[in-house]
Amino acid sequence: MASIELGEDYPEIRESVRRICADFPNEYWRKLDEAEAYPKEFVDALTKAGYLAALIPEEYGGAGLPLRAAGVVLEECHAAGCYAAAAHAQMYTMGSVLRHGSPAQKAKYLPGIASGALRLQAFGVTEPTTGTDTTKLKTRAVLVKSGAGDYYEITGQKVWTSRALHSDLMLLLARTTPLAEVKKKTEGLSVFLVDIRECLGKGLEIRPLKAMINHHATEVFMDGMRVPAANLVGGEGKGFRCILDGMNAERILVSHESIGDARWFVRTASKYACERVVFDRPIGQNQGIQFPIARAYASMQAAEMMLRKAAALFQAGLPCGEDANIAKLLASEASWEAAEACMQTYGGFGYAREYHVERRWREARISRIAPISTNLILAYVGEHVLGMPRSY
Ligand SMILES: Cc1cc2nc3c(=O)[nH]c(=O)nc-3n(C[C@H](O)[C@H](O)[C@H](O)COP(=O)(O)OP(=O)(O)OC[C@H]3O[C@@H](n4cnc5c(N)ncnc54)[C@H](O)[C@@H]3O)c2cc1C
Repeated sequence: MASIELGEDYPEIRESVRRICADFPNEYWRKLDEAEAYPKEFVDALTKAGYLAALIPEEYGGAGLPLRAAGVVLEECHAAGCYAAAAHAQMYTMGSVLRHGSPAQKAKYLPGIASGALRLQAFGVTEPTTGTDTTKLKTRAVLVKSGAGDYYEITGQKVWTSRALHSDLMLLLARTTPLAEVKKKTEGLSVFLVDIRECLGKGLEIRPLKAMINHHATEVFMDGMRVPAANLVGGEGKGFRCILDGMNAERILVSHESIGDARWFVRTASKYACERVVFDRPIGQNQGIQFPIARAYASMQAAEMMLRKAAALFQAGLPCGEDANIAKLLASEASWEAAEACMQTYGGFGYAREYHVERRWREARISRIAPISTNLILAYVGEHVLGMPRSY
């Protein structure tokens, strides 16, 4: 393969994000977790500093930075103990919107998203009955020709659509041609930019979904919801490709969050291992405590290298599916290894809410399931990269 720049490390962005995060200490997050409330002040601070518009081109009021810069923002938030996942969709949806959105769509929505006036925080793909088997999703969109302007009538259901109740816009995947009528199952899917504000109560209902972490999960019900044809992103039937571009960006961005989580766990565990004295010595002197933390640190460093490669390939517009998936696999496992080492280091106090480890441990666990589970990444590597028989 030709040589490729690994990209910058963005020390100034890291420092500036750390300063913002200093205003949102562990206690802020603990209270939100208990109240299941949205971190509005934190999201506003990131928006005001321009970081949620990191990927939006300058001509639309964004910073026009590479994907890695956006990843660095998320990583620093998580390394500081903040939960940027509350706002990260605004970044990863850009993989679809920037590459496949029409000039008119970009002109209409991007300036508002960049300024913070409009929130694009929801990404509706997963459905209750089909789960990971995305191409079998049942939400249907049918084009209706109308003198007042063509529109799609959309009916179906989504589950786990994070932040839909805190978002103005939602990127939605629906089927425009029935599965039985397409040659390849990836054909006939389309992506829509849904204006939640216009549709709520008019064929769109969103219900909160109680979950293990404060992720603002929802169930989305659509019954004859009308979306203007002008809001179709990337051409009818071409939605799978469009979502895939968003998904590689998403894998890279969430991997940065996992690396940030791993840094938080390793730092927190190492500190406690030095301070906590049992049997007249710091617990970190015992290799049973020290080595799992050291091993998690090594896993995190290795994952970070893979992540840098994936981000560099994405930025160069080169195929990066293998690298983005492997980075996601390794980063999520490194963060979970670090979470487990930290929990074990804290012993019983790991369960006490005031130490914040249990909350961050719950939050870190999601990275092995969403946005794609570990098994499906392994299946991708085994089948697409190594050429072994397909399981699906
Ligand atoms: C907190 C949270 C937030 C989320 N946010 C969003 C969001 O904003 N938007 C959105 O669209 N989705 C979201 N999701 C959904 C998430 O992407 C899915 O939960 C995830 O992709 C797994 O799908 P599933 O839950 O339907 O599992 P299933 O598809 O039911 O799979 C269950 C298990 O079986 C395994 N499995 C299935 N098929 C195979 C196979 N062929 N080989 C091996 N193993 C297999 C899977 O790996 C998984 O472990 C979120 C989920 C959570 C929990």
